[in-house]
Amino acid sequence: MRVASIEATETAVQSRGGLALDSSSIPRVEGRIHSTESFSTVDGPGVRFIVFTQGCGMRCLFCSNPDTQSMTDGKLVSSKDIAAKLARMEPYLQPNGGGVTCSGGEPLLQPDFVAGVFQEAHALGLSTCLDTTGQGSKHKSWDHVLPHTDMVLFCIKHLDPMQYEHITGLHQSGSLAFAAELKERRIPFWLRYVLIPNLTDRVGDIEMLIAFAKAQPTLVGIELLPYHQLGKNKWDALGWPYPLEGVEPPSHECVLDVMHKLKDAGLHVLCDHKDAPTSGVARYSAISSSSNNNAGAHAAA
Ligand code: SF4
Repeated sequence: MRVASIEATETAVQSRGGLALDSSSIPRVEGRIHSTESFSTVDGPGVRFIVFTQGCGMRCLFCSNPDTQSMTDGKLVSSKDIAAKLARMEPYLQPNGGGVTCSGGEPLLQPDFVAGVFQEAHALGLSTCLDTTGQGSKHKSWDHVLPHTDMVLFCIKHLDPMQYEHITGLHQSGSLAFAAELKERRIPFWLRYVLIPNLTDRVGDIEMLIAFAKAQPTLVGIELLPYHQLGKNKWDALGWPYPLEGVEPPSHECVLDVMHKLKDAGLHVLCDHKDAPTSGVARYSAISSSSNNNAGAHAAA
């Protein structure tokens, strides 16, 4: 199947964002968040306000934000608090399809809060983006959030079920069901993939990634995230042993080789690797800037 075009996706983002309620009719919902970030250019189209929700059911070996995993840490805020911040920032966010991105942690574990934030964004004419691994379930979370979601950044972790469980601690079946839900709802998405030596970068790993990607009708492209150890200090601060101790980032040659394989397969590729070829490399949107180490909250940021 063909992947969705960048231009079609941007149009879709803007038109889905047009289905807006008046803010006064949107319920106030409390959520537990880790933090927010005001001006991101790497987590969806345009300039974005990021809400990092607290709590995650996965235990990824390469998690760069282990302090977001606990379900009880963080601070309580309401969707109306977030809406007030979005309203103040609206002039900076609205041009070029910008808006709000809910990341984590895992935003789908707080579906009513995320749905509330997304509805508030739409009421302001802002686009909504979900940075997720597809946790939760159809009736308890996806049915609440996805009707208000314009675009998804979907971190797939690994396409081999055994490796997926090894990396995350969870079964892969939920992730595949989430992909089917995106297909059913025709929601455009970017697939995020962390490239880790001898874990996700082998020939068979990349072949599985390509086969999966090409079977997704609303896929826009693949964001390749070379593994790094910038989050290791957070594991140290928590007193947790770092699972990938001694694993080095992938070589430049490896990153470029994988990028070429993906492009040769006809896929759009986004990668902020310093030596990545720029010709033909897709971006989230025409105005997104490039390098920022915060890319990939579920990856190696
Ligand atoms: S990388 Fe993302 S999905 Fe994995 S444990 Fe960390 S917050 Fe959860």
